[in-house]
Amino acid sequence: MKTAIYPGSFDPMTYGHVDIASRAASIFDKIYFVVASNYEKNCLFSLDERIEIAKEVFKDNPKIEVVKGEGLIAKQAQKLNAKAIIRGLRMVTDYEYEVQFSQVCSYLAPDIEIVFLFAKQEFSFVSSTRVKEIFSLGGDVSNLVPIPVLKAMEEKFKK
Ligand code: ADP
Repeated sequence: MKTAIYPGSFDPMTYGHVDIASRAASIFDKIYFVVASNYEKNCLFSLDERIEIAKEVFKDNPKIEVVKGEGLIAKQAQKLNAKAIIRGLRMVTDYEYEVQFSQVCSYLAPDIEIVFLFAKQEFSFVSSTRVKEIFSLGGDVSNLVPIPVLKAMEEKFKK
């Protein structure tokens, strides 16, 4: 069975993330969608909230399992018996960060491949940061994030 992990902070998850996870699930037998706690302090949603939302979004896809990020991503991939770490690439601006990320992972876990999937054109401008910015300024993000994310954002901004 070919397994991969798709790690990220997903704060919040966008349709760009959903698209990458779904396409990865059509290539691999199983995808662990790893919600990482890095930089928690700057996150809009807590780790538990992000995990809960991800579980709701992927509840109908039996190939995608949502798990909590624990320690080094590369080491977690090994523990989960994954062959690959999936990452998404939007613009050239992602490239430098992703190259570094992939090199660190290769250094820590040379047996794990880093697999990049290009963002679909319609989602290549979508980032969690832009979604939060647009929403907080009253813009419509309903075409950019899944319904559970939209509901959670409405709740969060009401408070
Ligand atoms: P990070 O891991 O840096 O916290 P994110 O949680 O935002 O980043 O995203 C996780 C992964 O998904 C990264 O590889 C990122 O480049 C990719 N990604 C983010 N937004 C999109 C998008 N709209 N389309 C495709 N891939 C994306």
